Amino acid sequence: MPDSRNFYINGQWVAPATANDLDVINPSTEEVCATISLGGQADVDAAVAAARAAFETWSKSSKAERLALLHRVLEVYKARAGDMAEAISTEMGAPIDLAKTSQVGAGAFHIQNFIRALEGFEFEQPLGDHAPNDRIIHEGVGVVGMITPWNWPMNQVTLKVIPAIAAGCSMVLKPSEIAPLSGLLFAEIMDEAGVPAGVFNLVNGDGAGVGTILTSHPGVDAISFTGSTRAGIAISKSAADTLKPVHLELGGKGANVIFADADEKAVKRGAQHCFNNTGQSCNAPTRMLVERSIYDSAVEIAAATAESTATGMSAEPGRHIGPLVSQAQWDKVQGLIEKGMAEGARLVAGGPGRPEGVNRGYFVRPTVFADVSNDMTIAREEIFGPVLSIIPFEDEEDAVRIANDTEYGLTNYVQSQDGAKRNRMARRLRSGMVEMNGQSRGAGAPFGGMKKSGNGREGGVWGLMDFLEVKAVSGWSPEDA
Ligand code: NAD
Repeated sequence: MPDSRNFYINGQWVAPATANDLDVINPSTEEVCATISLGGQADVDAAVAAARAAFETWSKSSKAERLALLHRVLEVYKARAGDMAEAISTEMGAPIDLAKTSQVGAGAFHIQNFIRALEGFEFEQPLGDHAPNDRIIHEGVGVVGMITPWNWPMNQVTLKVIPAIAAGCSMVLKPSEIAPLSGLLFAEIMDEAGVPAGVFNLVNGDGAGVGTILTSHPGVDAISFTGSTRAGIAISKSAADTLKPVHLELGGKGANVIFADADEKAVKRGAQHCFNNTGQSCNAPTRMLVERSIYDSAVEIAAATAESTATGMSAEPGRHIGPLVSQAQWDKVQGLIEKGMAEGARLVAGGPGRPEGVNRGYFVRPTVFADVSNDMTIAREEIFGPVLSIIPFEDEEDAVRIANDTEYGLTNYVQSQDGAKRNRMARRLRSGMVEMNGQSRGAGAPFGGMKKSGNGREGGVWGLMDFLEVKAVSGWSPEDA
């Protein structure tokens, strides 16, 4: 691996203009596992200049050239899957088996889906038979600044970089400074795949530094951001003076509505989903809404699921959950568990502190609160830890009211054997996604939120559109196309 302090700019690994080291911590051991540099203005300027120059040529590349490059990226990504799983597991604590399957797998899945979306996409389309001399032309938006979080690092990076390449854009990526190792490896993959110099650039840094420099940079044409709602607001303000479009994928507080006629595995499945990736997923179903008649048994099943969820070191194989990503995240989750208890929710599993016998690493106990009311802090704030809040409801109307009573609107979930009821719920829930009866979204479906969960749509054709300008042309000569 190249020196982890370097950045990838214009097809080269280059040292930062000014040294500014940051240690990367393995959250299972609390030990330093690498050192990176935090970049500054000069590094971003160099990366943006390289991207601007590359845009001139890459934006004119053919669909066939872009497809050939993406196939090559997929091939190299798959060949480096083992290294990638290790990097992710070390930097953010995902157990190695989860890293190999879900974390790394998500990246390959997105690359494949964007290849399919690009194959079927027409960059020049007729307006309609009524206007034979009109054409709608889609062209790359330009240089894109990309800022990603640590929780599903390759999922987020591929959801941005791959469609941007497909759209003919060039880019500067700033991965999370907390989990930058996978991003550095991804830059190696791009290099090995033969991405033309300057099309893809990577500068490490934090939000206050490289993040702010990128979002306010006059040479950056658009921003694609995934992360917290707090940062999304700051980024929108920072980007406002240059009027660049800002695509936001932000936090969530998903409701999982479990009706009395749900299948018998629904409660266990919902609790497991909440604890997956140690609760660090924007679309985690963290508010479990349960119909009153099955409430007591649901609380019992959820508590038993938490008790049987093992925690363990990220390097160990198995189906346990790993630590939280950082000390800051550990402190935040502890504070919210304490708050849940203080506000009167009934703790039925887990609780504050580390799991029994563990005295290092950012491990927490899978925790379930029952008798939560939707105005408690644990029902309103995104906890980003394995903490489930169970809220009873009386009927369909009540369930919709509680589910929609949140600032967020990313993914809601519905469990019922009644198809008509499911469809009614799907129409009424105010979220970018509704997943029902444990069925995940199909390949190419758009991922994104409403309200304070953001405004972007990633994946498939919608994900491609986020990186395209739409140009209306009249007086077009169809014979000369
Ligand atoms: P974060 O907002 O703290 O950081 C995300 C990225 O933004 C990092 O690269 C960080 O350096 C950068 N950043 C922070 N402040 C910035 C600023 N003012 N200007 C520019 N850049 C800035 O989030 P996180 O803790 O890394 O990730 C967790 C959050 O991400 C959660 O809220 C989660 O819900 C959200 N998330 C959303 C999605 C989605 O698709 N909707 C997916 C994954 C994670």
